[in-house]
Amino acid sequence: MQTLEVGILGATGMVGQHFIKFLQGHPWFKLTWLGASDRSAGKVYRDAMTWHLAGGLPDSVADLMVEDSKPGNAPKLLFSAMDAAVATDIERAFAQAGHVVVSNSRNHRMEQDVPLLVPEINPDHLKLVPGQQRARGWKGQIVTNPNCSTIVLTMGLGPLKQFGITRIVTTTMQAISGAGYPGVPSMDIVGNVIPFIGGEEEKMQQETQKILGEFQGDHIEPLAAKVSAHCNRVPVVDGHTVTVSVEFSSKPTESDVRHAFDVFTALPQQRGLPSAPPRPVIYLEEANRPQPRKDADRDRGMAACVGRLRACPVLDYKFVALGHNTVRGAAGAAVLNAELMRSEGMLDR
Ligand code: NAP
Repeated sequence: MQTLEVGILGATGMVGQHFIKFLQGHPWFKLTWLGASDRSAGKVYRDAMTWHLAGGLPDSVADLMVEDSKPGNAPKLLFSAMDAAVATDIERAFAQAGHVVVSNSRNHRMEQDVPLLVPEINPDHLKLVPGQQRARGWKGQIVTNPNCSTIVLTMGLGPLKQFGITRIVTTTMQAISGAGYPGVPSMDIVGNVIPFIGGEEEKMQQETQKILGEFQGDHIEPLAAKVSAHCNRVPVVDGHTVTVSVEFSSKPTESDVRHAFDVFTALPQQRGLPSAPPRPVIYLEEANRPQPRKDADRDRGMAACVGRLRACPVLDYKFVALGHNTVRGAAGAAVLNAELMRSEGMLDR
């Protein structure tokens, strides 16, 4: 397949750096354009930011010039890691100008005509795009990926949707890397738990209903299940853990639920997309797994791990799920979205 040039909006930020790292050596996408604010524009990348990730700044981007975030000479496909305070207007301007904006920012996720995509769970939600382009008069488009804790929950629930999910209660233990850089002050988080992350519980509740909802022509009919989320920041570096209690209308047996986890595979695996993990959901047998330090990096951080499936005395079943928040919850999620879109022919039109 011919290599496609791609760019990053918000390239100097924390998520922008994760995009740069994840795209190194990508077989389909070649990173040639970096955008940020006018504070960074006109500088070479190495002078425009401080590199925070392990492994050092890749040579291939160190001397690229950072551009202003205005449509002009950017490639058609852009990954967005823009500050949410400015992402709405800038992403729209690029979509209007014909760019395909694959965004990690929260700004457009809940808009009726914007796909909130998890390629293994709801690839058909991409059917919203033609209506988005018609209604907004855009030649381009915006497609989003979920919040970093929502994606872990929905990958755990995706294999179980077939049983008719009616109620979900979930509690997160979220890593500090999810708060960006410099993130949470060390005096607040070392040896401590912070039982509040602004806006996170609402995002988990609403995004989960949309992701597990049904495409209905011009919108997504949200899953009718009630979702209650408790979100906590814990002193873990990478990997969000979520505990899940879930109720089903069809009352499956425990072995039905376990079988559903074990056999789960989806379109990205069938199509062999470059960033698709061989098994999107890995069930771990050990009673004390998954654990962030041991399991978050599985399959380059693209697989979700689940475990501890058991009966729930309040709802029907409970289990634990884990995913890498800056990979499957951010850069890797958006890159997989773009791979799915390319495999659908959406980047060639
Ligand atoms: P960040 O480190 O503050 O980076 C923000 C980026 O936006 C920088 O590249 C910055 O460029 C750019 N920017 C700021 N103002 C701009 C403007 N007026 N015009 C153009 N570019 C502008 O933020 P982050 O932690 O990477 O988060 C980025 C987005 O991803 C946010 O929407 C956040 O909610 C979301 N997110 C973050 C995480 C995470 O783990 N951190 C996880 C999931 C989602 P300059 O360097 O030039 O200022």
